[in-house]
Amino acid sequence: MAANTNNTPVAGCNNADVLRERGQHEVFCGLTGIVWLHRKMQDAFFLVVGSRTCAHLIQSAAGVMIFAEPRFATAILDERDLAGLADCNDELDRVVDEVLERRPNISTMFLVGSCPSEVIKLDLGNAADRLSERYAGRVRILNYSGSGIETTFTQGEDNCLKAMVPVLPATPAKQLLICGTLPDVVEDQFRRLFTAMGIEDVAFMPSRRADTPPGVGPSTLILLAQPFLGATARALIGRGAKLLDAPYPFGAEGTTAWLWAAAVEFGVSAERFEAVVEGPRARARKALTPMREALAGLTVTFLPDSQLEVPLARFLHAECGMHALEVGTPYLDRQILAGELDALPAGVRLSEGQHVDRQLDRVYADRPDLTVCGLGLANPLDARGLRTKWSIELVFSPVHGYEQAGDLAELFVRPLARSDRLAV
Ligand code: SF4
Repeated sequence: MAANTNNTPVAGCNNADVLRERGQHEVFCGLTGIVWLHRKMQDAFFLVVGSRTCAHLIQSAAGVMIFAEPRFATAILDERDLAGLADCNDELDRVVDEVLERRPNISTMFLVGSCPSEVIKLDLGNAADRLSERYAGRVRILNYSGSGIETTFTQGEDNCLKAMVPVLPATPAKQLLICGTLPDVVEDQFRRLFTAMGIEDVAFMPSRRADTPPGVGPSTLILLAQPFLGATARALIGRGAKLLDAPYPFGAEGTTAWLWAAAVEFGVSAERFEAVVEGPRARARKALTPMREALAGLTVTFLPDSQLEVPLARFLHAECGMHALEVGTPYLDRQILAGELDALPAGVRLSEGQHVDRQLDRVYADRPDLTVCGLGLANPLDARGLRTKWSIELVFSPVHGYEQAGDLAELFVRPLARSDRLAV
């Protein structure tokens, strides 16, 4: 895909029929996002209000050593809380007091709802307001839901960022706001590219410190770095910001088109843009060449899990020569995926939502060379001789931008190479 600088219409999947599935889910919950969110916001604390299951999930996902003092914890609701015999709010206040006394460097605390707190209808919004008053001027207390009821794991980040939108300071400045958690090294790469183009006023959300959040206002232009932040984008639009129509920065061409969407708005000339991206884009294309040799002509199916499915299918098709058979995604948010759907070739089977049995039946019938799916489905598929890639790895690994394009493609090559090594 090249930067579509002349707005030529392109044929794609934007008007394709979508198979809607409503059945059993097989996904992680939104608590998972705490793993990458707490690493990014270095002065934020995440207090899950949940069960022992929630505590186990987040501890094992984050791989915390027992001697480390992580910036997340679980306030465990026990049987007395669940039976309504204890005042959960008193308990919660006590736990928050303890944590904040022990961690004076925390500037923002997120109370994170879970399935149990939602089932007993514990109002964490009220709790956050009450505790915000108590800690006014010292710690900001916000709340969001990380529950796994009818959600998927990347929605935790969307809910977290959306919770921050009302407290962002207002700004009249014309600025570019990149939305979506990026590793610091990737953030720095993008900032350098924008600076070289002459775009100086660039903010990232979430920022590295929660106590210095970006501003937002009518001259803010939002560029999404992750394709699962629809609720956050709509909340920012509610504060007057404008959402740029762009694909996502995966691969050499995806990154170019993403950068170009911002460059156009800031009046960067095509010549200057080209001079800035020429070198890194060439490096990305070079890194992709051996990956394309390994992947071209192979088929791939995405089962709904991370909400990265549509942009990654576009990347594998356009830059690695793969044929996407089915692209399933938990939620097909057309507002933030329009640029991606246009770039998917017509004929790809698009599905939204989950019905595990029916989706597996289609995988068994299609027998794709590679299936990108959640952890829970990978083993059964591997046992049937299918090759799989865990989609959660694509969220935990640095995959955005030019310098990571080769690594992104390699994540798909690896399971194929491993299975070739195991073949006798
Ligand atoms: S929030 Fe729900 S799905 Fe997630 S670990 Fe807790 S109980 Fe399980």
